[in-house]
Amino acid sequence: MKDVISREIRLASRPIGIPTMANFTLAQTTLEPLRDQQVLVRNLYMSVDPYMRGRMNDRKSYVSPFELGEPLDGRAVGEVIESRARKFKPGDAVTSNFGWREYFIASPDDLHPVSREIRPLSVYLGALGMTGMTAWAGLHLVEVKAGETIFISGAAGAVGSVAGQLAKLRGCRVIGSAGSGEKVQFLREECGFDIAFDYKVGPVVEQLKVEAPDGIDVCFDNVGGESLEAALEALRVHGRIIACGAISGYNADKPRPGPSNLFNMITKRLTMKGLLVRDWLDRQGEFETEVGGYFKAGKLKSKETVVNGIDQAVGAFLGLFEGLNIGKMIVKLSVD
Ligand code: NDP
Repeated sequence: MKDVISREIRLASRPIGIPTMANFTLAQTTLEPLRDQQVLVRNLYMSVDPYMRGRMNDRKSYVSPFELGEPLDGRAVGEVIESRARKFKPGDAVTSNFGWREYFIASPDDLHPVSREIRPLSVYLGALGMTGMTAWAGLHLVEVKAGETIFISGAAGAVGSVAGQLAKLRGCRVIGSAGSGEKVQFLREECGFDIAFDYKVGPVVEQLKVEAPDGIDVCFDNVGGESLEAALEALRVHGRIIACGAISGYNADKPRPGPSNLFNMITKRLTMKGLLVRDWLDRQGEFETEVGGYFKAGKLKSKETVVNGIDQAVGAFLGLFEGLNIGKMIVKLSVD
């Protein structure tokens, strides 16, 4: 094996509030020669995700913090270049947790083989990856049923756009909120949402009142803050909340107060369930069969916003907090 030089993104300092480019460095490293039972992989695509913001703080939550001066990590899909392990051969497509770098060496146990029949391979980071599985798990978590009305915040993103499409396939009436007219159009015309509105043009509580005068049965909450308060207002008696994310608060420099109208939980006997997709890994096969089937049958769209090159990865990550993505934000690192 010739010397392999790989570029990677490292955490230079811990962000306070909204991260900036200065919190990251683009570094170059030369990989060690391959040893027995090791595989060399070139990343084709990597994922940037909102949860990574929490890992940049020096606080353990449900995942450990990123180390200063070390490369970040996250989901990626790549191609085996060289293998000294029987399980893999050059050309195999694999997913891993070695994102934020161009090349890496891993043991076979750290790689998950995926079929090249799915195109583009980046779908394994979106609709058929972690975010698609989050959408699928959320709907199972509160047993969403045909005929129910579900409100999804952050609806035009990776999780929200799949959650809405799956809810439609389950026979629900689907309402989504997103941050631009273009996103609203995407939800209505490409994802088949019954109703979509721009949360930036007026208070969410008012817009929900107009769009769902009889209330909602379920809220798939990706955003928290104002959206969650509006959902608490709109939920019917015995309504359910899927607590999936709270992106509106991820860059807050101190903890924010909870919803001012939490008392609705009591008066309406609501249920709010927290979701962590990693708790659902034992059902990954079931997810892949069902959602992969919809994708192959053309019943599920996997929209992506693709940014090119490792040097653009930080910009793609920061863009999540400015709403620059429609569907899954993907960084393309090499030709697929
Ligand atoms: P998205 O693809 O939805 O990207 C983030 C989007 O959030 C942006 O495009 C933007 O869209 C919106 N946004 C950004 N800042 C704000 C803000 N201040 N207020 C309202 N909306 C904002 O990300 P994902 O689909 O990957 O993740 C969605 C949520 O799900 C996140 O909260 C994430 O942390 C959570 N999540 C949870 C998991 C779990 O296991 N519980 C697993 C995966 C994700 P817009 O233009 O509409 O504002």
